[in-house]
Amino acid sequence: MASTKYIFVTGGVTSSLGKGIIASSLGNLLMARGYRVTIQKFDPYINIDPGTLNPYEHGECYVTDDGAETDLDLGHYERFLNVRTSQANNVTTGRIYHNVITKERRGDYLGKTVQVIPHITDEIKRNFYRLGETGDYDIVITEIGGCVGDIESLPFIEAVRQAKWDLGESNFLVIHLTLIPYLAAAKELKTKPTQHSVKQLLEAGIQPDILVCRSEKPLPSEIRRKLSLFCNVQLNSVIEALDAETIYDVPLMMRKEKLDERVLTKLKLAHKEPPHIDEWRTFLSKLKNPTNEVNIGLVGKYVELPDAYKSIAEAFIHAGAHLECKVNIHWISSETITEKSVKRTLSDLHGVLVAPGFGERGIEGKIEAIRYVRENNIPFFGICLGMQCAVVEFARNVLGFEDAASSEMDKETKHPVIDLMEDQKKITDYGGTMRLGSYECKLKKSSKAYQAYKTSTIHERHRHRYEFNNKYLEQMEAAGLKATGINPKSGLVEIVELDNHPYFVGSQFHPELKSTVMNPHPLFVSFIDAIIQNKKN
Ligand code: GLN
Repeated sequence: MASTKYIFVTGGVTSSLGKGIIASSLGNLLMARGYRVTIQKFDPYINIDPGTLNPYEHGECYVTDDGAETDLDLGHYERFLNVRTSQANNVTTGRIYHNVITKERRGDYLGKTVQVIPHITDEIKRNFYRLGETGDYDIVITEIGGCVGDIESLPFIEAVRQAKWDLGESNFLVIHLTLIPYLAAAKELKTKPTQHSVKQLLEAGIQPDILVCRSEKPLPSEIRRKLSLFCNVQLNSVIEALDAETIYDVPLMMRKEKLDERVLTKLKLAHKEPPHIDEWRTFLSKLKNPTNEVNIGLVGKYVELPDAYKSIAEAFIHAGAHLECKVNIHWISSETITEKSVKRTLSDLHGVLVAPGFGERGIEGKIEAIRYVRENNIPFFGICLGMQCAVVEFARNVLGFEDAASSEMDKETKHPVIDLMEDQKKITDYGGTMRLGSYECKLKKSSKAYQAYKTSTIHERHRHRYEFNNKYLEQMEAAGLKATGINPKSGLVEIVELDNHPYFVGSQFHPELKSTVMNPHPLFVSFIDAIIQNKKN
């Protein structure tokens, strides 16, 4: 087991310190030195997966190639590491208990009393080691969700403590991410909360090896010394993590603080050559020195919490940097858009993206926005529900089917241009029952999508129940809305495009999920490119 090295990342003092970004940045640096790395996240809530969580509570649900509905941090892992994650990379308390209870019902425990220790902790550890045991990775980074001291995370922390003894000293490392608050009145950085949270870890039997300290101000050497002394870590293992201008600066900031070097030394791994980060630097310099600027409206239902559209916002950053173009996102609640207000809301924007979503709320605003951009030649990109709304809008206002709708919103409509597939109609459970994960799609030559991807076979990720209703395909195409991407097995429509428009593309899949820093997504690049061209005219 010990050929793979394990790094555990815990958090203390408060949540939202950015464990996912620190883990991703470390992973990025270790990969840049030639190590094979993956990151996994263990979440302490009871839901089996975040698929059933409201985006308002937990941000976007990130979907992997294998169709797992996961925490949005997995999106950061993919974007920073340019690797693919899977179901194995995200495990919740709910899944751990589900596995243990299933085994218990099956009689696997042979009459034993099933307990948190050892049965739950053993199941947690089995999942800690799963990716390492494939032999595909030199280093597995495990992020433990929540804060040290939370009741919910206790079994995970206990499993981390035990893992040290399974793995052996130099194969195991704990990084504790903590906050050093600045008290303006006293003009001082304070170490006490960190001392307390390290004490809590020590009570659980874990000595952190490295402290990563989030702070608004640089850590002076006496603060570093104090942290080292009171928290029992080496002075050079106190790492400063200042607020960053962009999350993509963090790998370079961690490099400067030598986080990667400390990790390699402690894990007794060769330092090899310095990390290859030139391409990353190029990306950052393009991101920070744009030669162009565009304003894009993001029309959605959950705009008060931009984390609900995390991957879309990041995909705009990747594609914008690629084109040296600053993309300003204007978050627009679809509920505020009406026939009267639409012009006022959208006419100054260079492009409009209509977001994915579920349920009826705000749907008419989305349709109104699409009518406006279609009629006024404003570049448009619709994702999932956004694409479905484009189809509904076209059916209503071009084909003249006044009551056209998705049967998700109107079960009685005579024109269900977006409808459930037969096999979906029988499903009553909500969790994990959508069309999920990666599916193949064939692109029609001469389409905008083909021009963007420059290939005719693509694979993209899905998360939806409803589909384009092929009964209307011929009529739609004859009137100008073309199906330019088709699933070769099922014949389902994956992309629609409008002729004679600067850019009008809707995708049934979620392209944003596959955009990374090193591989900005072709559809986002082509959308922004079209906006730049259109702006010139
Ligand atoms: N609600 C739509 C469906 O289930 C779209 C889902 C989405 O936008 N992800 O098909």
